[in-house]
Amino acid sequence: MCVERELSLEVTKSRPFHSGKNLPQLSHRPCLIDGSTGKIYTYAQTHLLSRKVAAGFSKLGITKGDVIMILLQNSPEFVFSFFAASIIGAVATTANPFYTPAELRKQLTASKAKLIITQSMYVSKLQVEAADEDEFQVITVDDPPEKCLHFSVVSEADEREVPEVEIEAEDAVALPFSSGTTGLPKGVVLTHKSLTTSVGQQVDGENPNLYLKEEDVLLCVLPLFHIFSLNSVLLCALRAGSAVLLMHKFEIGALLELIQRHKVSVAMVVPPLVLALAKNPTVAEFDLSSIRLVLSGAAPLGKELEEALKTRVPQAVLGQGYGMTEAGPVLSMCLGFAKEPLPTKSGSCGTVVRNAQLKVVDPQTGASLGYNQPGEICIRGQQIMKGYLNDDKATEATIDAEGYLHTGDIGYIDDDDEIFIVDRVKELIKFKGFQVPPAELEGLLVSHPSIADAAVVPSNGFDLTEEAVKEFIAKQVVFYKRLHKVYFVHAIPKSAAGKILRKDLRAQLESATQKP
Ligand code: AMP
Repeated sequence: MCVERELSLEVTKSRPFHSGKNLPQLSHRPCLIDGSTGKIYTYAQTHLLSRKVAAGFSKLGITKGDVIMILLQNSPEFVFSFFAASIIGAVATTANPFYTPAELRKQLTASKAKLIITQSMYVSKLQVEAADEDEFQVITVDDPPEKCLHFSVVSEADEREVPEVEIEAEDAVALPFSSGTTGLPKGVVLTHKSLTTSVGQQVDGENPNLYLKEEDVLLCVLPLFHIFSLNSVLLCALRAGSAVLLMHKFEIGALLELIQRHKVSVAMVVPPLVLALAKNPTVAEFDLSSIRLVLSGAAPLGKELEEALKTRVPQAVLGQGYGMTEAGPVLSMCLGFAKEPLPTKSGSCGTVVRNAQLKVVDPQTGASLGYNQPGEICIRGQQIMKGYLNDDKATEATIDAEGYLHTGDIGYIDDDDEIFIVDRVKELIKFKGFQVPPAELEGLLVSHPSIADAAVVPSNGFDLTEEAVKEFIAKQVVFYKRLHKVYFVHAIPKSAAGKILRKDLRAQLESATQKP
């Protein structure tokens, strides 16, 4: 079985983001609202600043195909840098500012970024050494430390000096990192075609999945370094002519105050944020009546939480979207956002986006399954990634010969074409919507002299405590990848091919911990 939705509009016809198609009508409308300063940038200003930064990048020697790392909290400079890169055919690799130096270094080395746009407080994490100075330059959006340039070097460039660059639909524009179904984080090559198709699939047409209006104000508190926020918030909002309220970090009081002040109408969230909105007592002190739509994505949203949120924003339509970085990223979205809200079932991730084919297959045999039968969700369409950066093997293991991307998620499609996710066959663990690739932690664990195999086997003669293992990892990874519990076992169950049998290990641990 294969569920497919056709769209009469030709949304897959790619055009680069910076075509400025709707600019004449939108030029004086608000485009970006900087939540921390209250400063508003109109569409015309956003366009102009992006072009200036593009000219500045070009002056610094950045040319088509070069990679620029954006290591920033949500900010107008993030947006200008992303669009500027796209204008000159460069590729933006977005990185998590909370990453440890080692995590950042891996992304820097793999992406071969030539320029890093960051904040002064993150520069020390880059651990720039003399040898690096030939490899990349660093720009900070605030006071630059030694050897770094200030953002004004690019933002004050002459926009007339933007070079003419021929951009093809197949050219890369974004390079987020994701571990996918297995292994370590890898660069996900998203092209102009992937992103323009994905945006069109969500917001274009008569009855889009995500119905946005010019009057809408979208909350952008989810980090723009994650493709869900970059695509479904920023790009979709700009495509629709809406305004984007940028919040550089999550703090519930400030968030509520900003929603009230700027009359946010659309809130893209993740389940931990839904929890805060549903349960935090301060919520009752603010007027949230402007919110007409709440869309949760990146991780499963429980029914109870959904119900609890409904009591806080009774006027809003609530729904879920289902995405995966490699899928460009949106596979499905609730259709509850059309002019006439269509009710979707609780727990449903909505229906597949237009101009895409989604099928559910038996993970063992690959055979297509029918309605209501759980299996691995696969998707095909112009929006999916071109492949993993310099990793044909991982690409081939993820995109099959027929062009279907295998998600590693187990789900089913009900009689109304709604998608429900029930499990994962892939290794990936998600914590607060962030990726925690087990292979990465296992690699770190086995680098400890007392650990023979991951997850955690003490070598003979060493005295290893749970706390020591936790601390060992905590020093090396971003907060959401830290270990919460460590069990010591004699051997890790593995298949004949040496693959960790995670389900067996989980069952073994569950039965061991249930013993009185
Ligand atoms: P990422 O590439 O970081 O966006 O992570 C993608 C993975 O997050 C998917 O393959 C799913 O396992 C999970 N995910 C995303 N959205 C949802 C959702 N609405 N419900 C359940 N899991 C989700």
